[in-house]
Amino acid sequence: MSDLFAKSLRELRGLLDAGECSSRDIVQALHDRIEAVDGTVGAYLEHDLQDALKQAAAADERRAAGETGPMLGIPVAIKDLLNVKGQSCRCGSKLLEGYVSPYDATCVAKLRAAGAVMFGRVNMDEFAMGASTENSALGLTRNPWDLDRVPGGSSGGSAAAVAADTAIVSLGSDTGGSVRQPASFCGCVGLKPGYGRVSRYGLTAFASSLDQVGVLSKTVADAADTLGCIGGYDPRDSTSVRQELPDVSGAFSGELKGMKVGVAEEFFGVGVDPEVEAAVRKAIDHVAGLGAEIVPVSFPHLQYAVAAYYIIAPAEASTNLARFDGVRYGARVDADDPVELMKRTREAGFGPEVKRRVLLGTYVLSSGYYDAYYVKALKARALIKRDFDEVFSACDVLLGPVSPTPAYRIGGEINDPLTMYKGDICTIPANLAGGSGMSVPCGFSSDGLPIGLQILAPAFSEDRLFRVGHAYEQSTEWHVRKPQLTVSRDT
Ligand code: GLN
Repeated sequence: MSDLFAKSLRELRGLLDAGECSSRDIVQALHDRIEAVDGTVGAYLEHDLQDALKQAAAADERRAAGETGPMLGIPVAIKDLLNVKGQSCRCGSKLLEGYVSPYDATCVAKLRAAGAVMFGRVNMDEFAMGASTENSALGLTRNPWDLDRVPGGSSGGSAAAVAADTAIVSLGSDTGGSVRQPASFCGCVGLKPGYGRVSRYGLTAFASSLDQVGVLSKTVADAADTLGCIGGYDPRDSTSVRQELPDVSGAFSGELKGMKVGVAEEFFGVGVDPEVEAAVRKAIDHVAGLGAEIVPVSFPHLQYAVAAYYIIAPAEASTNLARFDGVRYGARVDADDPVELMKRTREAGFGPEVKRRVLLGTYVLSSGYYDAYYVKALKARALIKRDFDEVFSACDVLLGPVSPTPAYRIGGEINDPLTMYKGDICTIPANLAGGSGMSVPCGFSSDGLPIGLQILAPAFSEDRLFRVGHAYEQSTEWHVRKPQLTVSRDT
């Protein structure tokens, strides 16, 4: 079967269970597909076919011995900031050149235990700071729907790989929208679980109170299956929750009767492109047509979200990134004394956006400015959390846009950080409040660029995202469209 790369996780599971293909076949098909199109897309930083085939052979043996399961034999592409033992983990940065992970992140270990194949590392904005993957120091990733446009970010490689059919599913991370926004730009599903659902152990920290591992996939059901594997309590992450994973068995009925779906007009008043607004509103009408009740709600503090996030996230980043001192990890620029060594390493190793955040974060935490900026941002964060609490006392999920615009041109926004930051307005609130969220494809712009519908729910009610997302997805056709990529040779 030559088109295995184009299948969803659930389809592949069916084929594997029926003995119609092996995990090795899937790995080989993905490798061939990468050879054919990734020279153009640039999603992968590296992948080791032999190592993947070895893992796949082990999965095939487990299956032959009678084992089965949603992830058994399924290749997963990994964002370059998650540790996979024996692989590099460069976080899209020059600073981590030469670093080899001595251990598996918990989510990776869980995938391995379930028989998944760790297949390749995908590109990202340096240390997950950005929204276009242009901040990667390791190469350019293009949007498979329009090669002159960005794939979004920071998990741009993860989204581009899924959209280009060079990955079945991929892991990303979402601190302010980095799974949902690239999913919306590339026309795939992007799930950000509630804060604490997936262990952050082995995820290179950007802003620890906001970071969450997420999933990019072709369908909502695939995202749910992957979360079922990687989620759960981990004693190695003190912020991981002891709560059971939600029971998703009822979430795939397609039934939305009795569900209350909130719509907050504030999310449309933040410079949302008319085509995005039209597609999202149409999607909301569609959800209503499936039997859900639409409830108008309000989100009065949305306007403070970007300012609060761009104080809190850099503040946490400035302390988290202090560990990259040229002594313990990766590259080093030598000098006679240790302070000079650290300065030179960081000067040479970090790109401009990372430096900007470290400076900003150090500034807002410094004495005299701490109360004026950092504490104030925490207060705004509390108000945003309260907005969510009120919204979810009136409805089950909140629907709105993911990003105010579809994918922009490469080089179009990168020199204007403020405009970039403002593009995160719709995704940041869920991170500030710790809630769960998902992007599902809901249309295309007149330029043929994908548009995403954002579904938000309370932290540990991801089952509601799946219920609404799946019902919407299965009654529309957006998710089956594929970008036209020219293949350099037949796959
Ligand atoms: N675009 C946001 C930022 O630059 C979000 C990044 C993320 O979620 N990792 O910080």
